[in-house]
Amino acid sequence: MSASSIDAFVATTDPRSMAHLRTLVDDVLGLLAEAGSGRTGPVPTGGPAAARAYADDVLAEPLLPTAGGKPDDALRQLVEAYATWAVDVSHPATVARMQCPPATVAVAADLVVTALNQSMHAWEAGPFAVELERRLIADLAGLVGYGPNAGGTVTAGGSISNIMAMLIARDEAYARRFGRSAFHTGVAASGVRPVVLCTETVHFSVDRGASIAGIGSDGIIRVPADELGRMLPAEADRVLRELPADLLPVMLFVCAGSTDFGWVDPLPAIAEVARRHGVWLHADAAYGGGALFSDRLRPLFDGIAEADSVTLDLHKFGWVPASAGLFLTRDAAALDHLAAQQTSLNAADDVAEGFIGRYGSSIQATRRCDALKIAVTLRGSGRQGIGAMVEACHELSRFGAARVAREPRLELAAEPVLSTVLFRYLPERETDLDEFNSTLRRRLMRNGQAMLARVILPRPGGGKAVWLKLMLLNPATEPGQLDQVIDDVLAAGALLEAAAAS
Ligand SMILES: *Cc1c(COP(=O)(O)O)cnc(C)c1O
Repeated sequence: MSASSIDAFVATTDPRSMAHLRTLVDDVLGLLAEAGSGRTGPVPTGGPAAARAYADDVLAEPLLPTAGGKPDDALRQLVEAYATWAVDVSHPATVARMQCPPATVAVAADLVVTALNQSMHAWEAGPFAVELERRLIADLAGLVGYGPNAGGTVTAGGSISNIMAMLIARDEAYARRFGRSAFHTGVAASGVRPVVLCTETVHFSVDRGASIAGIGSDGIIRVPADELGRMLPAEADRVLRELPADLLPVMLFVCAGSTDFGWVDPLPAIAEVARRHGVWLHADAAYGGGALFSDRLRPLFDGIAEADSVTLDLHKFGWVPASAGLFLTRDAAALDHLAAQQTSLNAADDVAEGFIGRYGSSIQATRRCDALKIAVTLRGSGRQGIGAMVEACHELSRFGAARVAREPRLELAAEPVLSTVLFRYLPERETDLDEFNSTLRRRLMRNGQAMLARVILPRPGGGKAVWLKLMLLNPATEPGQLDQVIDDVLAAGALLEAAAAS
């Protein structure tokens, strides 16, 4: 290697290359500390206009110049800029999206994953990575309550896991009805129309999955729910019984921890319905799955192992940096639909001699080994450690809800189930509540004070209403810090009221 290529590429067996990498890592960690030092809130002040102006300034030079400069300088410039306007996911007022503060060991593991650049799709791309993922899947399948025949894969997130579930359920349904998987025939060939059953409040990845699986979002049948949004098993049964013969039900999709309220559809009763009708049952525990680590919250998820497949997301409750999704199936053979495609990657003679890759268990080819950062986090904290963190977030949400309930200007939507607080500000004078709360949220973001989520929920009497949401995923947040967030909401609301009155 020439001197310049030693600088350019990581060679773990070359001490000079490793020394260079160590220097760069040291430098960038210094930059991260500096970028965070002047901050008081989760983001700098000024909102989108300030972020845009900053980017216009620091990114004035093209990102793809004709001739490159010094790679180390490019790294420092861009890292400094990136960190300056990054949301601080460890800040107690960062409570909008499902971004957990990542475990330190997971971040270090992610550097290793990147430096060694293994891939999951073939044995020759990462022999240990392949073994690690297989074992991780087995252990997490055990957490769900699946037996030794379970299978699955690490995915790029809950959306991808839900899409995989939809594809596999579709292929299973077609194979059962017509003797040939829709993987080959497509959905139109058989003259039936595939449909999926779920409630109104499922994650939006269901629509996307239906579209990708050839079902179409018009092929989603919404099963009536109780007043909290949970699927009514008797209604699911009725819809399936009354389904016209030219509609093929491929999946019952249930929420195991809904994105907003954290509700769990009644799993055992719905599993019974799914079994009776021979329909694939998928449980979306992307957010709620973290509760499986907690002895206290786990009973909410009783019956989850009766689902044919489960989505988990350890980049939400799990403290692993994204992406750390999982798609698990009770029976590993279900994934064979994906492996049906003959390529040089699945060659039978290689597989017979143990040269297995994970191509056939995924919808990706080249795929990072996200299993490493997940495995170090889980082994480092254990089930009790993660469970305690989940419970800390749950406690925090109860504390926040109690505070909201005491405030005359705030209205609580419901008692927390997992780790969310849904509420809205009620101005003294009559005004458009949706607009008021939407403006309030943007004001807090613009001021760099707090990142809250806005959700739009069905109104009991029909129509929809805007609510604010605190998504609590930081077990290190103190109750007093959450009080401060609520104080800031109240203060911003009072200022908005005053401005409207003047
Ligand atoms: C977050 C979430 C998803 C999507 O997961 P991503 O990792 O963001 O793709 C799916 N379902 C539920 C219930 C979720 O909360």
